[in-house]
Amino acid sequence: MRIIIGGGTGFVGRELTRLLKTKGHEITIISRQPGPGRITWADVESGGLPPCEGAVNLAGENIMNPLRWWNESYKKDLFSSRVDTTKLLTQAIAASPTPPHSWVLVTGVACYNPSLQTEYTEESDWTPFDFLSRLVQEWERAGQLPDNSAKKTRQVVIRPGAVLGRDGGAMKQMMIPFWLGLGGTLGSGRQPFPWIHVSDLAGIIAHALEPHKEPPSTKPDVFNGVAPALNTNYEFTKEVGKALKRPTIFPVPAFLLDAFLGSERAIILTQGQRVVPKRTLESGFEFRYPDFTSALREIVGH
Ligand code: NDP
Repeated sequence: MRIIIGGGTGFVGRELTRLLKTKGHEITIISRQPGPGRITWADVESGGLPPCEGAVNLAGENIMNPLRWWNESYKKDLFSSRVDTTKLLTQAIAASPTPPHSWVLVTGVACYNPSLQTEYTEESDWTPFDFLSRLVQEWERAGQLPDNSAKKTRQVVIRPGAVLGRDGGAMKQMMIPFWLGLGGTLGSGRQPFPWIHVSDLAGIIAHALEPHKEPPSTKPDVFNGVAPALNTNYEFTKEVGKALKRPTIFPVPAFLLDAFLGSERAIILTQGQRVVPKRTLESGFEFRYPDFTSALREIVGH
């Protein structure tokens, strides 16, 4: 298959590209920068979508960029880098004379209201309650194809938790403090920590790109991109400490994270959702890394 990946140069995109290439697929990345195997967003705007069987969007300004202060300009970039690129791809798919059979949008679990008890599946109702959940709502709305296109292209939305892997994402940022023995629980540590290994997320996206026999529905199929193990931040911290053979005795108070990251963003770390990958499992997807032990052995073992 020919597959177009918006934001495919990033952490998840690199893993997805590796996986799809090993399956024999041909990949074109949409990037802000031209280069071999790439086209730019401006190319899509002016020339439309190149012929392809699958399209994915992974583009987005990094939400946990420690070098960016939480202010209106950063929030605007977080929105536009996701919503505008998604809108552009949706419009290009709708206008294509040969639209792809699958369109996969990767968003996030921030749409689910943090809670210590409630378990969220893909069928759970949610309404936006803060900045990040509004972002997910706008992002997923932007990904919705008009009804006549939705009859030709299957729409999939994947909502991942924190993506763990050795080449980027949360683990890369956390490794140094943990190595220095400064890793500790965040806030109370009791908050759920929804997570997925990057290789499993790439696997779920690849699974979603495969052609289906049934005609597509006009609504997107939603899959929670989280490992089936339901863990807390405390469990995560202790497992990383154990894997790295480092102490994890210094808890990081929530107020420090609020002050450093901005409270609207720190919520990702200080609060969390118990997210269940119900439909993901029902679809037949098999996780390679269903629990911390297997995931951290792969990540830290290297
Ligand atoms: P990255 O931070 O690696 O970014 C992906 C790509 O987005 C970059 O390679 C870049 O491509 C493009 N990008 C960055 N900033 C902008 C911008 N301002 N405008 C347009 N494009 C931009 O993301 P990940 O691979 O980690 O994540 C992929 C998607 O999954 C993202 O949308 C993210 O929000 C979502 N997600 C990720 C999680 C994680 O833990 N990593 C958790 C939950 C959701 P280029 O420079 O080539 O243009």
